Amino acid sequence: MKDLTRRSFLASSLRAALFGAYAVNSSAQAQSTPWSNWSGGQTCRPAGRYDIASEDQLIELLNSTSGPIRPIGSGHSFSPLIPTDGHLVIIDQLSGILDYDSSTLQATIGAGSRLGDLGVALDDIGQGMLNLPDIDRQTLAGATATGTHGTGITLQSLAGNITSLRLVTPEGEIRDIDASDGDLFDAVRVNVGALGVVTQIRLQNREAYKLKKREWTAPTEDILTDFDELAASHRHFEIFPLVYSDYSMVLSIDESDQPIGQTIIPAEEVTLADLRPLGVDATPLERLTMNNALAANAETSEVVDLSHKLLSNIRNNRFNEMEYSIPAEGSAECVREILKTIYDQAIDVAFPLEYRYVSPEDPWLSMAYGDEPHATISIHRTAREDYRPYFDIIEPIFWKYGGRPHWGKIHSLGHRELSQLYPRFRDFMEIRQSLDPNGRMLNEHLKNLFDA
Ligand SMILES: Cc1cc2nc3c(=O)[nH]c(=O)nc-3n(C[C@H](O)[C@H](O)[C@H](O)COP(=O)(O)OP(=O)(O)OC[C@H]3O[C@@H](n4cnc5c(N)ncnc54)[C@H](O)[C@@H]3O)c2cc1C
Repeated sequence: MKDLTRRSFLASSLRAALFGAYAVNSSAQAQSTPWSNWSGGQTCRPAGRYDIASEDQLIELLNSTSGPIRPIGSGHSFSPLIPTDGHLVIIDQLSGILDYDSSTLQATIGAGSRLGDLGVALDDIGQGMLNLPDIDRQTLAGATATGTHGTGITLQSLAGNITSLRLVTPEGEIRDIDASDGDLFDAVRVNVGALGVVTQIRLQNREAYKLKKREWTAPTEDILTDFDELAASHRHFEIFPLVYSDYSMVLSIDESDQPIGQTIIPAEEVTLADLRPLGVDATPLERLTMNNALAANAETSEVVDLSHKLLSNIRNNRFNEMEYSIPAEGSAECVREILKTIYDQAIDVAFPLEYRYVSPEDPWLSMAYGDEPHATISIHRTAREDYRPYFDIIEPIFWKYGGRPHWGKIHSLGHRELSQLYPRFRDFMEIRQSLDPNGRMLNEHLKNLFDA
């Protein structure tokens, strides 16, 4: 009980709930050993794993094998994009900066590069990526394939910053694709790993830069009411609405020229004498009372650092996640409805939601495709728990608000629903069919998405 009175309890316990140490699957294991994704929720026993060292080797592999091919990144997708009894292709060796231009601030990067390895390498050539997702363990090819995004109403997903890429088609042909290829370029930037194997990506970057991150807690309703204004006034702005609470953890990030360093601004000491520790059978009201008292007294922290050190985090606790992208206008109501549903149905979950805005963009299968900003809302369940009962209750709420599921996260939609949500979905399917006439890039999950 004494520990609960510490000012930093809320911040540290929430961070611990969300952010634990991750372990990356080794991508160079022996053939036919089982594969599993980061959360352990997806597994398979592939016929072979090929850790290719060059495009020539990749083409030889494609020409000398038959059956399904699944390119893998770092296995950080929650949805069953990878599982196959066919062949896994690993392109970790195709990594690093291959070429760059200091006048356009563009760089061509090996598609197997881990995002987290690119920060220092780009810094060395005076460049910085425009944005990064919540973690940086993903490969560039894997992250762009699923439309992976960060936070920021003016900032596009990683795929939105692609100026060209190289695709090795399942037929073994090398295609260099850029905006002059029109529809093909719009199809291939967010490709869900269903068009071929991407080996190089040229990114639009900017000059290297520093950021200042501020984290605090505030009443959820106050923030939701002002969310548009707050999102417009910060380079990055997002909240983690706490369940069974009237509060959210709030995060803003802006450019800064201050010296690198961290400041903790303490809150008032909280007195929890009237609160008793909560057991598993705590009522929603008991949880609310406890969480509000903790949240109201959490500290504020500010940190200044290089952009690539501040934009992503380390997440220790393994979890599974569902995320839907919905038009930003009206999205606050969706957050309210999810929080109310959790409370009313006494769903036993401790993870906060995550609510952020992303810029509109034009890759056909981007979750933010179109002219309007989108909000993304995530729910999480620890990896040791069955996520289905919780996600099954919340998923229809996302549908009510016109939500598009994140390709790399849990969802239950197939091509019928997806073709209603993406105006160019059928065009994507046609291009897919032309690049992969024998369906080698499809596993069972992808057949359900694209093989109408
Ligand atoms: C802790 C955690 C935090 C996350 N945070 C965010 C976030 O902030 N924002 C967000 O949008 N998402 C987030 N995600 C989701 C994650 O970014 C995506 O699922 C991403 O696709 C994972 O990248 P990966 O390299 O692990 O690819 P994998 O999961 O291994 O593969 C993803 C897809 O990419 C394809 N692929 C991989 N390599 C190639 C290639 N060379 N050519 C063609 N296709 C290829 C695969 O076939 C597959 O379809 C998070 C996931 C985790 C586990």
